[in-house]
Amino acid sequence: MTTDQISITTATHKKEKPSQDQVPFGTIFTDHMFMMNYDTNEGWHDPRIVPYAPISLDPAAMIFHYGQTVFEGLKAYRAEDGRILLFRPEKNFQRLNLSSDRLSIPPIDEERMLEYLIKLLEVEKDWVPSTLKTSLYIRPFIISTEPNLAVGPSRTYTFMIILSPVGSYFPGGIRPVTIHVEEQFTRAAKGGTGMAKTAGNYSSGYQAQAIAKKEGNADVLWLDGAEKKYIEEVGSMNIFFKINGEIITPALTGSILKGITRMSIIELLQSWGMPVTERKISIEEVYQAFTEGTIEEVFGTGTAAIISPIGELNWQGQKMIINNHEIGEVSQKLYDTITGIQRGQLEDPFGWVVALS
Ligand SMILES: *Cc1c(COP(=O)(O)O)cnc(C)c1O
Repeated sequence: MTTDQISITTATHKKEKPSQDQVPFGTIFTDHMFMMNYDTNEGWHDPRIVPYAPISLDPAAMIFHYGQTVFEGLKAYRAEDGRILLFRPEKNFQRLNLSSDRLSIPPIDEERMLEYLIKLLEVEKDWVPSTLKTSLYIRPFIISTEPNLAVGPSRTYTFMIILSPVGSYFPGGIRPVTIHVEEQFTRAAKGGTGMAKTAGNYSSGYQAQAIAKKEGNADVLWLDGAEKKYIEEVGSMNIFFKINGEIITPALTGSILKGITRMSIIELLQSWGMPVTERKISIEEVYQAFTEGTIEEVFGTGTAAIISPIGELNWQGQKMIINNHEIGEVSQKLYDTITGIQRGQLEDPFGWVVALS
């Protein structure tokens, strides 16, 4: 790998920044973006920060045909003292390389990716919003760019980072959602790409999500691809259950995305003396707990919402109402603690936060 200096081309026209709390997710982008190229001769090279703009690709570029692409998602937060904070960003770049490995994309030095991100954030620091519950969403991604219709890994790639200011995930305060337990469609199978953040995993879920939404659900809960028996995850969130005092999350089997929020919640609960059992959990077990009245809390976890309480699960025409559609005690405490650490309001005993100097 070459050790090029990052070149910076400053945008001559600066965009107007949106009103902070009313930005629909992922629709507004900052003035600059990061780019770097790969080819088999030079490896990853030419890291640069350039004005945010459309990119030009050959219509035969492999990304358009065979979907060889990976992405990440994390956030930069503005602390009350003005500092810009990142939450475990090294985990995102580790995971990007894991996803790349699955998709036959060449790896990128993880420390270097973090350096590039920090450089980009320094250029765009005024874009990190400061009002309550807002943040700057960070989207690193890699696309295959070789113009070639032969099925096989591309010999050229582009790595990019784009930034998008986002408002609160729950503008009216946290509200538990209703989720449809999906029994017809499958998100991922063992041996497939479920553990990778790659495009096809998401578009293949749209049909199921559209049907579920029509019936008043916010999203779908995916079951395992083989038997449609064991719980995997919700949309782009991992899932936790509190049943009869035990906190359970599905074990990582290769078809579930290894969430960084999931990992942090497991570590946090452990530190509170509330160990999480990572195991197989079937939808029948959840239904049984519901009928026995032992299901206490259910919540999804992910960078977007951090904690998204689930107030109702619809399965085979049965409505399982959880905790009277209210946010549970553990869910609330986890939300307050993680968001507090992320925004620098609470002490960070785990060393999770990376502050820009
Ligand atoms: C990104 C993602 C998650 C959550 O991961 P975090 O690192 O916690 O944001 C869970 N499931 C899927 C399918 C995802 O894409």
